[in-house]
Amino acid sequence: MASVSLRHINKVYPNGFEAVKDFNLEIEEKEFIVFVGPSGCGKSTTLRMIAGLEDISSGELRIGGKVVNDTEPKDRDIAMIFQNYALYQRMTVYENMAFGLKLRKTPRDEIDRMVREAAKILELEALLDRRPKALSDGQKLRVAMGRAIVCGPKVFLIGEPPSNLDAKLRRQMRFELFRLHQRLGMTVIYVTNDPVEAMMLGTRVVVMNGGVLQQADTPQMLCDYP
Ligand code: ADP
Ligand code: ADP
Repeated sequence: MASVSLRHINKVYPNGFEAVKDFNLEIEEKEFIVFVGPSGCGKSTTLRMIAGLEDISSGELRIGGKVVNDTEPKDRDIAMIFQNYALYQRMTVYENMAFGLKLRKTPRDEIDRMVREAAKILELEALLDRRPKALSDGQKLRVAMGRAIVCGPKVFLIGEPPSNLDAKLRRQMRFELFRLHQRLGMTVIYVTNDPVEAMMLGTRVVVMNGGVLQQADTPQMLCDYP
């Protein structure tokens, strides 16, 4: 059973613009999928549809075998990581990580166990009482990941890094993600406009252009010109 299945997915924005056209992709569990392509080709639109942040115009989206076209983001088995972190500034690291579990009305002692476990994986144990402004960029990144893994989702969706994200932090992000994927084996869908990054990270690279999926292959296959 594919972890994420996109069948004949189309997106037409209210102004009539067709951003995604007949998109078909079966993503297996534990794959690290990278969407790559020029700016405006429909990568983020596709990611947002999987996340439930954008309506699907037609087609069928399944996550873990279940049709989720009309399912709320919080009821999909996903976590979205925004590379601008979007941490809650007034909350501590602990509270940031606990937030999603509180929304789901998880019991307090369970929240505590899950937050501490995620903090251990991401080496954030010593920082739980800090607020985001007292963290380095790399630490903020790990908190954003911690907030995502704490609910134990099977699928991670990672938005394109903001263009002003510096190169060092981008490398750090890549490294942390790679490590987390090795360790937890979750399914990852990652968006980038950088082909080199796509080749480095992806177990499979999905090339988009003009709203169309052009190719979906391993990095080796993509480079292997006849
Ligand atoms: P990418 O992530 O590949 O840069 P996007 O998915 O953000 O591309 O956008 C795909 C296309 O859809 C672009 O041409 C963009 O201008 C257009 N688009 C994005 N959002 C909207 C919207 N809300 N209304 C109309 N067109 C949009
Ligand atoms: P300020 O920058 O004025 O200190 P905060 O960043 O603390 O404001 O945000 C005020 C409230 O907005 C917080 O209580 C928090 O619940 C909410 N909030 C902050 N960041 C986000 C976010 N990224 N997404 C949703 N809600 C947020």
